[in-house]
Amino acid sequence: MLLITCPVTRTDELVADRRIRSVANHPTHIAVAVDCPSCGGSHVFRTGRRWEDDRAERAARAATARAARVREPA
Ligand SMILES: [Zn+2]
Repeated sequence: MLLITCPVTRTDELVADRRIRSVANHPTHIAVAVDCPSCGGSHVFRTGRRWEDDRAERAARAATARAARVREPA
């Protein structure tokens, strides 16, 4: 089983393994394509520590940049 959040309906769905269409291993993440039980579409979800680390790093950099702009004198 896999817990996904459908990007169409924004609901959390438990997806059975038989609904997993493909799993692709990439250097930074694993891409899992699933048939969505919520909207009937097909979504690709990316998982993996390095993928999450990269996203977290980019979010942190964006937050730092925002904070820097706030501190600038008007
Ligand atoms: Zn969906």
